[in-house]
Amino acid sequence: MCPGWVKASLRRFTLPFKLACSVSFYTHPLTLSHSFLSAQKTIGSYFYSTSVYANCKISKKFLPTPSFSCSFSQSASLFQSNHSCEPMDLSELLEVLEHLAPLSLAEPWDNVGLLVEPSKIHPVKIVLLTNDLTIPVMEEAEAMNCDLIVSYHPPLFRPIKRLLQRDWKQQLAIRAVKAGIAVYSPHTALDSVRGGVNDWLIGGVGSGRVSVLSQAASSIPPSHKLEFTVRNQEELKMTLAELMDAGVKLPYTTTRSDDDGYNVCLTCPDSVLAATVQTLSRYVTPKESLAILQLTKPPLPGCGQGRQSILDEPISIATAVHRIKSHLGLSHVRLALGDQHTLESEVTTVAVCAGSGGSVLQGVKADLYLTGEMSHHEVLDAVAAGTSVILTDHSNSERGFLSVLRERLSVRLSDSVSIKLSQRDRDPLEIL
Ligand SMILES: [Zn+2]
Repeated sequence: MCPGWVKASLRRFTLPFKLACSVSFYTHPLTLSHSFLSAQKTIGSYFYSTSVYANCKISKKFLPTPSFSCSFSQSASLFQSNHSCEPMDLSELLEVLEHLAPLSLAEPWDNVGLLVEPSKIHPVKIVLLTNDLTIPVMEEAEAMNCDLIVSYHPPLFRPIKRLLQRDWKQQLAIRAVKAGIAVYSPHTALDSVRGGVNDWLIGGVGSGRVSVLSQAASSIPPSHKLEFTVRNQEELKMTLAELMDAGVKLPYTTTRSDDDGYNVCLTCPDSVLAATVQTLSRYVTPKESLAILQLTKPPLPGCGQGRQSILDEPISIATAVHRIKSHLGLSHVRLALGDQHTLESEVTTVAVCAGSGGSVLQGVKADLYLTGEMSHHEVLDAVAAGTSVILTDHSNSERGFLSVLRERLSVRLSDSVSIKLSQRDRDPLEIL
């Protein structure tokens, strides 16, 4: 690629970027219209703005995820009418789960979605929500004749070459199959989605202006925009006919150029780029005028890993500890005071990451980090940078969101489905 093309790509970025964003909003299953995502662009991230969902005409199954700025109970109450008692099968339930947290938002290393599928198709009557699928939770599921376990963490993560009883995770998979229980995991898709686990976590510290730490991008395939000129209508027809013959089916736009020719603009996916360029290179005018612009995947405002909040009203570290304990239902958390901090030091900016936040929080400037776990050396780094750290133990920073998930599911599922929170699921670590 010549340097001129690179320059053109940068110069022209603004318009396609906005256009592509607008398209992705409409196709994003969590959103109903562009107006719901009136996000305000800032440098490298997006601050949330208040969204109101009250006036939407939508089917119950595809209700939008409540905005972070609404209280979850208020949002749910908007949609509690029209309950049906129709039986729901697994595929319908999976559709609802996918719309609550699109799996395309999950991290590439993750293993999300349907992990165990029973062979018998029957209506789903009982859904069990758990943070971790452990042996006690499986016993609980079997005892209640559960049909679907939604386990936030994927119980199957690494590739499996055999299914043996001596491995406790493989044994769980065997038991699920035997009992006809499906297993589904949303994991990092639920962390990332707007209004998901990380938004819920940071909401416990107090209201504020929230931005995403690691911005998620649209899942649309990478593509290029090609612009070239043809001398006349005849050449335009021939060029397009050749592209069609080469199997390239492209939407295109044309505008008249100053010298009676036509400027043609095509957007093509990377998979057909080489064939398209090869075809165009057979014609002198298109070849000499050809400009290729790489289109970047647009960011999805409000979605991604980790969150940062600039609090509406600064609080002390002691108050932050109190609020977090109360939000997560914990009697204890661990605190590392940042350099020069005391319990009365002011907290204005907070960064959170549910679960294990070391990598996402690394280097983020904030008065306070909140996460489930960080390594000793990651905590030392934060403290030396003047950031206090609150650790809750891994799953204690995630589990409380299951109640929110149950609420969201209950307004979207038929009354024939009973949604239960596991009573046996808990963090394996205890502070005595
Ligand atoms: Zn986790």
